[in-house]
Amino acid sequence: MSRIKIEKELLESLYLGNGYTAKEIGKIFCVSKGTILLRLKEHKIPTKVYRKYIIEKELVIALYYGNGYNLKEIADIFGCTNVTIRDKLIEYNVPRRSISEISKGKNNHFYGYHHTKEAKKHIGDAHRGKNNYMYGRIFTTEEREKMSKDRKKCKIEKELLEALYFGNNYTIEKIAELTGFCPATIFNKMNEYGIERKYVFWNNILTPYTSYPLEFNNSLRKRIRDRDNHTCKECNITEDELGYKLSVHHIDYNKQNSKSENLISLCRSCHSKTGFNRKDWEKYYKNLVK
Ligand SMILES: [Zn+2]
Repeated sequence: MSRIKIEKELLESLYLGNGYTAKEIGKIFCVSKGTILLRLKEHKIPTKVYRKYIIEKELVIALYYGNGYNLKEIADIFGCTNVTIRDKLIEYNVPRRSISEISKGKNNHFYGYHHTKEAKKHIGDAHRGKNNYMYGRIFTTEEREKMSKDRKKCKIEKELLEALYFGNNYTIEKIAELTGFCPATIFNKMNEYGIERKYVFWNNILTPYTSYPLEFNNSLRKRIRDRDNHTCKECNITEDELGYKLSVHHIDYNKQNSKSENLISLCRSCHSKTGFNRKDWEKYYKNLVK
């Protein structure tokens, strides 16, 4: 029997990026879970510890009071029992919601923000493989409206977002699903807070965000910012006005291409927009740097 060959990047993106289990990946390649685990070991990809989610106090409170989820719904998210969540609430001294609060809803931005069955299905479908939200996606008018509404409503704390993203190792889509927001909103929130991304899409494959070549270092970034007068080339806001250093964006999205004509200084807000409609932005910025 011939050995099935699975590229390291692909395996990594499926396993770490998309968060699939070895069993799920096995199904994709029509091999056993054991084979996948073996390949992970061969490629020296660290195996995940399942169901060891960190049930942070802030997260429980956010889900319980913020999203208005009940114990069962929270338990489903963490893959544990209702009793575990109830015990956590007691341990963290979180007062239980009264019946009226549960039925009436509170004056809370998040409260009762459940997604519909269709939305849940949509999210599930959308974050599978090539249908991923973040890749070159074109949004419908309805989606755009929802996104702008979301942005105003989205009050997720930086700490919570970091806990979910780094602590629980959730993907952006997963966080969106949990919090009931659109992935683009979470994506923008992360940029707003300056949270570094673990993975980005490159040629439809998730690659670790930090995989810049050595020549893309601080001195090169400084040179580009100097060249651009420390001003966002899109909206003309300056670093002084912003109070932080501009991002240096790879115009053709290829991190290996660090030629100066492929680099441009952007503020966080403008940089976050380049995650969508990539082809258009590439053309646009190529013209701008020329
Ligand atoms: Zn800008």
